[in-house]
Amino acid sequence: MRLRLLGTGSADGWPNPWCDCASCTWARGGGVVRGQTAILVDDVLLVDCGPDVPRAAARFGVRLSGLRHLLVGHAHPDHLGPESLMWRSWSTAAGRPLDVVAPPAALEVCRAFLARWEGSDPDREGNPLRFLEAVPAGPAEPDRTGEAGGTGTAGGTLWLGEAGARYEVRPLAAHHGDASIGPAVLYDITAPDGTRLLYGCDTAVPLPASTLDAVVDRAYDVVALEENNGDRPGFGEHLGLDTFGELVGELRRRGAIHQGTEILAVHLSHRNPPGDELARRLAHVGARAPHDGESLDI
Ligand SMILES: [Zn+2]
Ligand SMILES: [Zn+2]
Ligand SMILES: [Zn+2]
Repeated sequence: MRLRLLGTGSADGWPNPWCDCASCTWARGGGVVRGQTAILVDDVLLVDCGPDVPRAAARFGVRLSGLRHLLVGHAHPDHLGPESLMWRSWSTAAGRPLDVVAPPAALEVCRAFLARWEGSDPDREGNPLRFLEAVPAGPAEPDRTGEAGGTGTAGGTLWLGEAGARYEVRPLAAHHGDASIGPAVLYDITAPDGTRLLYGCDTAVPLPASTLDAVVDRAYDVVALEENNGDRPGFGEHLGLDTFGELVGELRRRGAIHQGTEILAVHLSHRNPPGDELARRLAHVGARAPHDGESLDI
């Protein structure tokens, strides 16, 4: 699994361009600039696509033409910019198939946008987009990645891609918003080479019991967890530095995080402290804050 972090920031980015707080002033003056969080996996699967994300890819020299699967966690606008689907349709990638996996409310945002601005319907035959509902999966099911056929679903788990290059995707219930934006999900993604990522944006604690059950012994290679709120809790249903640490501990106890797991804090906002303080605090729980554009070979 090769990961490319196209963004590691919050909805408003860090720095928030409108803001003169100490944290934004530091970030702007030679600190670190972060756009909306999204992770590209093996150049074929993208998790989340806020409006910042395709432009970030362009600035990093990353092509999205090979993308075959787009996963969206919920319908908040920092995770879903439906215009990207229209702009893709103006490119050489236009006729190529693209799975769009998202909760019902997020698919509805895409449908309404495409109907209004493009007069297109992803459910019409011949449309290269294939909309698939992300329904939270239960505890791990038997591995069926070797079975015949292309994409399949069972009990919430989706198998995306062709035999030999198939991704197992398990949406997990988040603690974030209501059905009007989702219901929001996190993603457990196993690559064809067997490496495994937990994408944990957005959520507060506690995680739903079904999700805590579903991550038992998953032994993720990478856990990318939101840490929006830093030391200023109380903003939305998100994690801050305290609850991020609590959740990392919970995931360790359940065998989801092990000794070798790379723990990444993402969806970072100006509610976090400036300077080296964030890195120092994250290191206490074995985590770090990657930069936008960073690549990881797992
Ligand atoms: Zn968000
Ligand atoms: Zn600020
Ligand atoms: Zn959100």
